[in-house]
Amino acid sequence: MKTVSLPATGNEFIIGKILCIGRNYVDHITELGNETPTAPVVFMKPASAVIYDGDQIRIPSFSRECHYEAELAVLIGTDGKDIPEAEALSHVAGYGVAIDMTLRDVQDSLKKKGLPWDMAKGFDTACPLSDFAPASAVADPQALTIRLQVNGTERQNGSTSLMINPVARIISHLSTIFTLEEGDIILTGTPAGVGRVISGDRLEAEVPGVARLSVSVA
Ligand code: MG
Repeated sequence: MKTVSLPATGNEFIIGKILCIGRNYVDHITELGNETPTAPVVFMKPASAVIYDGDQIRIPSFSRECHYEAELAVLIGTDGKDIPEAEALSHVAGYGVAIDMTLRDVQDSLKKKGLPWDMAKGFDTACPLSDFAPASAVADPQALTIRLQVNGTERQNGSTSLMINPVARIISHLSTIFTLEEGDIILTGTPAGVGRVISGDRLEAEVPGVARLSVSVA
């Protein structure tokens, strides 16, 4: 069983679903040559994919191209279904940072065949996850910076103000499909600057003032 903690409150949550939004920043859509979606692109990762600060990413032998995608992570604290956008943020227990590790070659091949992305997004170690800050400590989730460094060099530096679908709308939309439950986590998409990692790389992801996370590639 994987858990996530809010050190400031001493609370710990058993991780339920990990719901992920794809193509939520225009500059990242452009860099991958994707079409801008009319509705949010939704996929999932299993909780078994979670690793923590200090852990190691293990690239599966069936991939030659593993990418990082640093993302704002949202922890659901209160169950809800069909949540109105105006009430959505009251369901949030905390905010953190995650890296949506993606086997880009596997994903591209699955996309071409019209097949689900699970292998590319849900493999063991595909979801490095930080500790979370309580929601009460984040005045506006659309006024945060997401940064990622590889071996000390900055590769991603984006603002959550540039999300196509802001956090409240994501929660409201997802809750029309899935009952959101305490311990569910939402990854809200990545800004531009994604790239490949290789064995020995050190990744540091940060939402300054909220959360940080350091992992390496085995
Ligand atoms: Mg992503």
